[in-house]
Amino acid sequence: MSRQSNGHVRKGETIVPFYRVGLGEEEIAEVVETLRSGWLTTGPRAAGFEAAFAERIGASHAIALNSCTAALHLAVDALGLNPDQGVLVPTMTFGATAEVVRYQGATPIFVDCDPCTLNMDLEDAARKADALERGAMRSKEGKPLKLAGMIPVHVGGLMMSVKDVSAFARSRSLWIVEDAAHAFPAAWRDAPDSPWVRCGEATADVTCFSFYANKTITTGEGGMAVTESEELAERMRIMSLHGISKDAWKRYTASGSWYYEIVAAGFKYNMTDIAAAIGLHQLSRADEMRLQREALADLYDDLLRECHAVELPPRIPGRVHSRHLYYLRLRLETLKIDRAAFIEQMKQRGVVCSVHWMPLHLHPYYRDTYGLKPEQLPNATAVWPRLVSLPIFPGMREGEVRQAAKSVLEICDKHGK
Ligand SMILES: *Cc1c(COP(=O)(O)O)cnc(C)c1O
Repeated sequence: MSRQSNGHVRKGETIVPFYRVGLGEEEIAEVVETLRSGWLTTGPRAAGFEAAFAERIGASHAIALNSCTAALHLAVDALGLNPDQGVLVPTMTFGATAEVVRYQGATPIFVDCDPCTLNMDLEDAARKADALERGAMRSKEGKPLKLAGMIPVHVGGLMMSVKDVSAFARSRSLWIVEDAAHAFPAAWRDAPDSPWVRCGEATADVTCFSFYANKTITTGEGGMAVTESEELAERMRIMSLHGISKDAWKRYTASGSWYYEIVAAGFKYNMTDIAAAIGLHQLSRADEMRLQREALADLYDDLLRECHAVELPPRIPGRVHSRHLYYLRLRLETLKIDRAAFIEQMKQRGVVCSVHWMPLHLHPYYRDTYGLKPEQLPNATAVWPRLVSLPIFPGMREGEVRQAAKSVLEICDKHGK
């Protein structure tokens, strides 16, 4: 959730919010112009945003939607996901990644995280896929499950290896839907002399981005599905707006603009022009905002490097990191307090923190529905009580980073063993 600061002053310190929305005058003016234009819902600005986003990513098709969750849902629908199928989903993610699998009546097969990057561990994914092939996993209704696809997440905006993910998917004939909610702009390359591959540039069958209020670029609420496949794009577009076929619309324009045909029971997932008006200008500032976050992350690293009670976020060569999140891992064995007390102490020093995430297999719905035990996903179970996300957002002042880092150092010093 985005939290706004009104600059409350306590003990001479300002509140450092977890996130502060950074909209420019351009976004505000464009929204006002949209309101004045009389065209509020999906129209020229949504179309313009789609074209500009596709161009920026290097993708053939981009469909603007009202959330990333909608994009993920349309993607798995277009790929034909059904109740006899299972999908590899990381346990270390937000609920949206798994719930869209349930929307289709299919089964999420939870995969543990890599302890360093927190991204999906492909060795565990292979173990889970083998178990499915042996018929060891059944749907809620007791049928043997067939593995259909995988939904990798680039946690915090640090991309998984595109090469490894695609090799894994190809070897098992799986589709890939990328949950890139954190990963715009982000890129990957295989070697220092290889060209950069942008997230969404043919890195999956469908790549889904989020423009929620506190994501790397925002439209308030919003998302984008990008794909190279004309067929998937067409199905997603139709399903995004009541299952209304655009082709039928075109074919029968002679009958009048009032004519349309419904070809499927679709959804209501379209992006409004009011939202797209914000997105157009956020998009043009995306690289500048990423550079700001990168500078803030570098400063955090410098200020916290000597602190033995925390582990810093990983740095991996061959990545353009979107730096959506800056998470620490507490070394709880060196501290007399737990994570909850740590976050409370940060709050007392005016710094609002968050946690990304409690793994999905520990949430009551997934735990109880699939009978999951904490020890079945040991890395995620072990890391989550240690995770603390510090504030990082464009427009965050250097003094705010210093206040947050100083608070970490003070707490570790005061409560160290
Ligand atoms: C925010 C988020 C989503 C959902 O995005 P919405 O645009 O809010 O639907 C999905 N996956 C991850 C990993 C997220 O962080």
